[in-house]
Amino acid sequence: MIDDKTIFQRGEAIESRLRQLGDVSDTPGVPGIWRGMMSDADFRAKSLVRTWMEEAGLAVREDCFGNIYGRLEGQVSETILTGSHVDTVKDGGLYDGACGVVTAIEAVGALVKAGWKPYYSVEVVGFEEEEGSRFDLSYPGSHVIVGKLAEEELNICDEKGVCLKTLMEELGYDPKELPQADRRGQVKEFMELHVEQGAVLDREGLSVGLVENITGMMNFDVTISGEQNHAGATPMYLRKDPMVKMAEVILKATEAVKAISPTGVITFGEMELHPGLKNVIPGSVHCIIDLRDGNGPALLEEQAAVEAILEEACADGFGVEYRSYSYEPPVPMNSQLVDALEECAREAEIPYKRMNSGAGHDSMIIAWEIPTCMIFVPSVDGISHSPKEYTRPEDLSRGCEVLGRMLMKRADERTQPDR
Ligand SMILES: [Zn+2]
Repeated sequence: MIDDKTIFQRGEAIESRLRQLGDVSDTPGVPGIWRGMMSDADFRAKSLVRTWMEEAGLAVREDCFGNIYGRLEGQVSETILTGSHVDTVKDGGLYDGACGVVTAIEAVGALVKAGWKPYYSVEVVGFEEEEGSRFDLSYPGSHVIVGKLAEEELNICDEKGVCLKTLMEELGYDPKELPQADRRGQVKEFMELHVEQGAVLDREGLSVGLVENITGMMNFDVTISGEQNHAGATPMYLRKDPMVKMAEVILKATEAVKAISPTGVITFGEMELHPGLKNVIPGSVHCIIDLRDGNGPALLEEQAAVEAILEEACADGFGVEYRSYSYEPPVPMNSQLVDALEECAREAEIPYKRMNSGAGHDSMIIAWEIPTCMIFVPSVDGISHSPKEYTRPEDLSRGCEVLGRMLMKRADERTQPDR
């Protein structure tokens, strides 16, 4: 057992490494960075990660998909895995993904330096292409480690027509080895540290969030049609304006979601008016609704409420067509692990809260197969997927401490109740 917990005060070191990684981009010279799968920047970033893992005393390897691992051998080969993704969105910041990889290296590195000998083996992972920013796949790196990426999915091409499978083969990554990259049965637990990407922790002055659920979501495709007519010659009482009806739907649905659940969020971010001219009352309005909630039953209740509001909108002779699609239920994190994280935060006297994640993460894919938990650190002003992403070094230190304590708790044999 390591008694000195000041070894995890690595905020400054984490920030400095994130800055070094931030200099590695496929779009140099602009503030926003981009690292897409198997690009030049991806290789340079992973070469930095490899160096840091080796310096931390870890044995480094890559799987056939380019996920990078640093391993600390324990007394048994069963493994506690921690990390996040190395890639970024286009025009992204320094913290999304990379923060979880670098913090994990720092936490494990500090433990190794202090002479820690875990019972379980411990590995740090840097996943490939979480954002799907080069190849339009969702979370392919984490799908690979739970045996859920089929070889035929590798036939996808990027914007320039480069086929992923061909690219992999050219670079020496063998698609035939996908089955060997499946870590089910070897990895006992997975824990991911990530920036919150929302403003809750920053607003509330908290350093750490313990994720209970990763949000569920669905979309609605809605078209309301009315009567296209002249904007000047049609008096108000003779109009059938679908935009006004859409505005009613927006207000009512927003109020309904707010009333049903504090964790529900509804967004009307994509809208198109036909014909879309300033002097024409539109004939129809088309809208995509994005509805999310980390609370599964509440999400279904919100869906029913939105549908009832849309049904009601037909009443005044408007045409309303809608369908809901791409339903993904919320993904719960392992409750025992969340409790263990809470103990770590309490022992460290770090201000925390239990919360849901509004964004998707690799953890969401892994959690269906391997007990999984997530630690959030604050995003200043809630900004993410932007070059303005920032997390204070003191919060990085606290996140590192919770992760470090958690690794000791879960990988140290003396804390395993079943032994
Ligand atoms: Zn991320």
